[in-house]
Amino acid sequence: MILKPNVSIAFKGNNGKYVMLNTSLFQFSQCVYVFDVVKKAEIDGGVLDISIICPICGDNHKYNFSYRKLINKGVSIGGCEKFGTPVLYIGNENKIQDKISKYNNFHRDIYGFLSSDS
Ligand SMILES: [Zn+2]
Repeated sequence: MILKPNVSIAFKGNNGKYVMLNTSLFQFSQCVYVFDVVKKAEIDGGVLDISIICPICGDNHKYNFSYRKLINKGVSIGGCEKFGTPVLYIGNENKIQDKISKYNNFHRDIYGFLSSDS
């Protein structure tokens, strides 16, 4: 098996909708430019170090994911520390796509309504 240094990551945005990014570990830090909730995204010794302003409670949450564990697990979930609601998915692209497409489709009507003036 060839270890591909790729990772997919999806964050719940401030509009409540998940957005996914397919990136490489080498470009992981670009998450801070892509996602409005991400304040820090760094890799240190195979550990992904993420800091966000939570779109649910507004507090700062920090997450650490071992890249090796991510590969084995398929997908890992980071939740709001106060409410336990998922705010980020990281790992395998197809598995994340599956989770967020169900969520985004389910909420599509609400967000369609909220964004109708833009
Ligand atoms: Zn939170």
